[in-house]
Amino acid sequence: MCFNFLQMKNAVADPDLLWPYGAVIYKTEDDVGCPESPQCEILMRAMDHYHQHSCIRFKEWTGEANYVTVFFNPESGACWSPVGRVGGGEQRLSLGQRCWYLGIVIHELGHAVGFWHEMNRPDRDTWIYVYWKNIIPYSQVFVLQGFTSAFAKHDPSTVDTLGENFDYKSIMMYDEYAFSKDGVSPTLQATQNGVVIGPIWKKPGLSASDIRRIHKLYKCPDDQPKPGFPYDEVCTFNTHTCGFKNGGAAVWNWRALNSSDGYVYASYEQAGATPGYFLSVNFHALAEHDPRGSLGCVRFWYLLQADCDLRLALSQAFLNTPTQLFYDPDAAFEVWENSTSTGHWMHVQVPIYVTRPFKLMFQSFFNQSCSFGNIALDDVEMLYMPCEGVTTASPTTTSPTIFSTSTECVTDEPVPVTTMAPLPTTPLLPVTIFPTDFMKPPMHG
Ligand SMILES: [Zn+2]
Repeated sequence: MCFNFLQMKNAVADPDLLWPYGAVIYKTEDDVGCPESPQCEILMRAMDHYHQHSCIRFKEWTGEANYVTVFFNPESGACWSPVGRVGGGEQRLSLGQRCWYLGIVIHELGHAVGFWHEMNRPDRDTWIYVYWKNIIPYSQVFVLQGFTSAFAKHDPSTVDTLGENFDYKSIMMYDEYAFSKDGVSPTLQATQNGVVIGPIWKKPGLSASDIRRIHKLYKCPDDQPKPGFPYDEVCTFNTHTCGFKNGGAAVWNWRALNSSDGYVYASYEQAGATPGYFLSVNFHALAEHDPRGSLGCVRFWYLLQADCDLRLALSQAFLNTPTQLFYDPDAAFEVWENSTSTGHWMHVQVPIYVTRPFKLMFQSFFNQSCSFGNIALDDVEMLYMPCEGVTTASPTTTSPTIFSTSTECVTDEPVPVTTMAPLPTTPLLPVTIFPTDFMKPPMHG
């Protein structure tokens, strides 16, 4: 999946390789340890860095066709990522044992956003000397090419340098010992006297030029999200749960009736009198001057069915950033509830504020006198418009569907063992795996 160095550019020139709305869709694999691990925290800080300085938004996957899966590559020290949005489904971003530094994670995310290495620019010989004899002659990843390909100079006709000068401070620029055969022989050097480039993992983040390049590439003026972001979400629960996860001891289950119909439910048989929590991904806020205004709308179908008291509630937890890993219970507010068992699917729309990042939580509860009980949800819509403005009743998908066939990818050298700072030592904690058992007969319709 990562082997083609022939088309390297400073930034991708093909607009199909850019992320619609500047929104990089991501998932984290369980081994990253979100939300408890120090690795997860570094990843979120790196994403926040882009949010604070650019129009790029990292958005947790809720069903989009194309997305980056970030995984912790424990056997390998390798840090690598395809360049830009490859298309055709999942693309993987590797962070090995020696990649978990803010600068390196920002660098890898830079590849996913659409940037190649600074040292590949066609004008680089004006700015750096390359010492070819000191470069690692071969690699396990690129057996035929070795790492000299990482120093390939690109043809000006295929390059978009976005009108920016060569930048030693770029987060995409390697240091003097990049891919050094012995770690002490320099592989490149600034042509300007006295300039020391220094390792990526020590860099504070995106340089001023990096930020201008992002804005030129994605055609956005500043750190505000592009128009149209965040976009409306529709969760049909037909093939997945849109990133909804269980948040407590009692579980919500996902049930697919067939390939085109599914829902989620909590049952008294499984939960007993223990409340069940069903938590969404973090939603981004509307920008301050977004013409859509401050009100959003959550719309969904629900079913309450039991021979006892039961309750379904929806809460909204406000977040300080869209990457916040744990919500503050004091910032969570119940916005809707119902405790009437009808045995029928009901449709409801609930107004919410969308000017701060937030998370949605459904809470289910049965009292102790039940002999049976079901609480089910379907077609949850998160709309960035007031409920009064909602006109259509049928869910429509908003997932981007553009595809490209690029398989270009860049492998990076991790932090050398001799110079690396101590790794985070907190052990990874087990994460909640969404259950997929099938206990109840169909209730829908
Ligand atoms: Zn790289």
